[in-house]
Amino acid sequence: MKNKIVLLGPPGCGKGTQSKLLVKNKDFYQLSTGDLLRSEVLNEGSEIGKELKKIMEAGQLVPDEYVIDIIVKKVSELKDKNIIFDGFPRNINQAKFLDKSLERVSLNLDCAILFDIDFSVLEDRINKRVKESEDSELRVDDNLETLRNRIKIYKESTLPIVEYYKNKNILSKIDGMSSIDDVYKNILNIIK
Ligand code: AMP
Repeated sequence: MKNKIVLLGPPGCGKGTQSKLLVKNKDFYQLSTGDLLRSEVLNEGSEIGKELKKIMEAGQLVPDEYVIDIIVKKVSELKDKNIIFDGFPRNINQAKFLDKSLERVSLNLDCAILFDIDFSVLEDRINKRVKESEDSELRVDDNLETLRNRIKIYKESTLPIVEYYKNKNILSKIDGMSSIDDVYKNILNIIK
């Protein structure tokens, strides 16, 4: 089974949902930079947390040095596990650093799965996520203005990674518009 996997796709495409299924059923570890950053934001005494909150509220990307540092540490800590990289890399520079961090521990990325989705459904999905969330679970970036900015940044910075992985022959595309079950089956087919 392929066991070092990147999930690529815009906010609200279902990466988090699918990661959780893989964690539950296939013994994967979900390495979500977004989750790690949010836990730093919740750490009230943290000055870095305050800075991160501002960046995330604006829908901007956190500086590369910060997230790359997290990833380098996590990769060497988790090298023997099945890992889903969820929300990392977000630009070409991060993609190259991920390759280097894996090489350093004699590993490489097995595949990158792109969620192909119509951008017009993302606003509805985020609105639904807001309605279904308890207040305590609400994310600082779950609102329409931030979402629009995040989609813009996705198109500018993250989409070019698709070409990068295509050239390495590790890119697979799935239909992100189909049901959660069908997306999951397609992912299992790719990683088997
Ligand atoms: P996510 O949970 O993956 O949707 O990420 C939420 C927010 O965290 C993003 O909008 C960024 O502000 C920040 N973030 C998460 N991952 C990264 C990353 N790899 N590089 C830069 N910023 C990130």
